[in-house]
Amino acid sequence: MKVAIVANNVPHTQKVKDRLIQKFIDRHFDIDQQAPDVVVTIGGDGTLLSAFHQYKDRVDKIRFVGVHTGHLGFYTDWRDDEIDDLVVSLQSDNGQSVSYPLLEVQVKYQNEAQREVYTALNEVVLRRSGTTMMTDVYIGGEFFERFRGDGLCVATPTGSTAYNKSLGGAVVHPSLNVIQLTEISSINNRVFRTLSSPMIIAPNDWITIEPEGAEDFILSVDSDSYPKSKITEIKFKVSKKKIHFAKYRHTHFWRRVQDSFIGDGYDN
Ligand code: NAP
Ligand code: MN
Repeated sequence: MKVAIVANNVPHTQKVKDRLIQKFIDRHFDIDQQAPDVVVTIGGDGTLLSAFHQYKDRVDKIRFVGVHTGHLGFYTDWRDDEIDDLVVSLQSDNGQSVSYPLLEVQVKYQNEAQREVYTALNEVVLRRSGTTMMTDVYIGGEFFERFRGDGLCVATPTGSTAYNKSLGGAVVHPSLNVIQLTEISSINNRVFRTLSSPMIIAPNDWITIEPEGAEDFILSVDSDSYPKSKITEIKFKVSKKKIHFAKYRHTHFWRRVQDSFIGDGYDN
């Protein structure tokens, strides 16, 4: 098995990384940062997001394992004091994995030759830096509403506990192959009227938006933001690809949600 390690810059994480590398060497694992079979991340959910983007071209061939050096995350299952067990468990690996949906986003520009495709693990957000954003919203190619406000967010199920949740979106079980649209501060009056509720879009449907105005858009894909101009259309759909996790410690999803957002007090 070829393994790669992606860690954040926190000093404690770096120590865990050094220990893990030594254990991989002792047990004759092949450390290959370029073309690994398994990518072990050490840090938080943000570390796994950045590892996903680093290896996104090989996402079909790779399985991830998340080690958390802080609190239990949504993509991180192993505690940093369990890396002995993790290495032993990888040594007896039988290829087992769990897979979660990804979001595919296609961006078209006034220049028709220019097209881009992004894949997100958490969400994609479109907003403007100067004025409010105006855009027509289509579901499955049919006009749905005319949005005016700060921006729109489209999230995956595993991303539903991140920015989506702060925007009032629903927490979605990751066994559902769907995407969710949430509004960021919509203006509702006689001219602009939106549903004003989060919407969950079925696997075979898609969302298209046609933003008005040429300049000062910001497209955020997970942790990265890109300035954009002259966009004519953005299409959001459930990706055909999925992210795979190896040696996934089964934590009941709703237990994980409770652990992150409600805490021990829930038992009292
Ligand atoms: P960050 O600013 O360090 O992350 C913000 C927080 O989101 C961190 O506590 C991070 O956990 C957590 N997080 C990331 N993915 C999550 C998930 N799927 N479920 C629950 N929590 C999650 O930046 P980052 O670490 O690179 O993460 C980028 C993400 O931040 C974006 O994808 C977006 O979802 C989120 N974000 C949220 C808001 C908001 O809620 N107002 C605004 C902007 C961005 P860790 O500490 O474990 O990394
Ligand atoms: Mn982070």
